[in-house]
Amino acid sequence: MIVAEGLGKTYTSGGRPLTVLRDVDLEVDPEAFVAILGPSGSGKTTLLGLLAGLDQPSAGTVLLDGQDLTRLTEDERAQFRAENVGFVFQTFHLLPTLTALENVLVPIELRGARPGRNGAGPHDRAVSLLERVGLGDRLDHYPAQLSGGEQQRVALARAFANEPKILFADEPTGNLDAETGATVIELMEELNREARTTLVLVTHDMSLADRARRVIRLHGGRVVSDDRVDPAPAGPVAGP
Ligand code: ADP
Ligand code: MG
Repeated sequence: MIVAEGLGKTYTSGGRPLTVLRDVDLEVDPEAFVAILGPSGSGKTTLLGLLAGLDQPSAGTVLLDGQDLTRLTEDERAQFRAENVGFVFQTFHLLPTLTALENVLVPIELRGARPGRNGAGPHDRAVSLLERVGLGDRLDHYPAQLSGGEQQRVALARAFANEPKILFADEPTGNLDAETGATVIELMEELNREARTTLVLVTHDMSLADRARRVIRLHGGRVVSDDRVDPAPAGPVAGP
């Protein structure tokens, strides 16, 4: 459960305050699938960063599962994120000197290597995550040796490495062709359905937004609409 109250962000650039997010009140239920839409510069990335505890708000609070992120130190927030949150950055942020496999291993080791659900060690777990995103034959490639779509999928495997309760993704299909984008969307829906991961996604991609069960629109740093919707009937059929 995410609860944001009175959330605001003001940057100071050139000595002048610039408010890019204001008065955002938001509750996101566990297992929700939320798409955040809005024009460029409307505050989507800023909002996602605040909800994920990557950044501190100038006003308001964010509670993730009852934990007030604004009261934690930076180290405590990092630890909390490692335990609870996966984040796919708009520009991937893969570590260039590490292979695909090593990139996925980072959060697993950061969290403190412990056996996964089925007893798999960190290495096997990272391999199986990369296989799941179709990169089983790219384990030892460095980011520079991967296409944008492949890097996006490594970033997704890394974000999901610790089976986060909440996956935040900033335009996760933004650099993908339609086919690869569809694969990534299916993968995220699978996480939502099977691992019960809450999805909070920023997107311009209507084929992704159409899959969400809730659509929030931002404009000029404010929430201008918030609609519960029936997702379009496409993709693989859910279980009984
Ligand atoms: P979106 O993701 O919707 O395109 P952002 O959240 O990235 O929008 O940015 C919202 C506004 O905040 C933009 O006008 C941007 O220029 C400004 N902004 C973002 N980050 C900073 C920063 N670190 N310092 C100053 N202004 C920023
Ligand atoms: Mg953005």
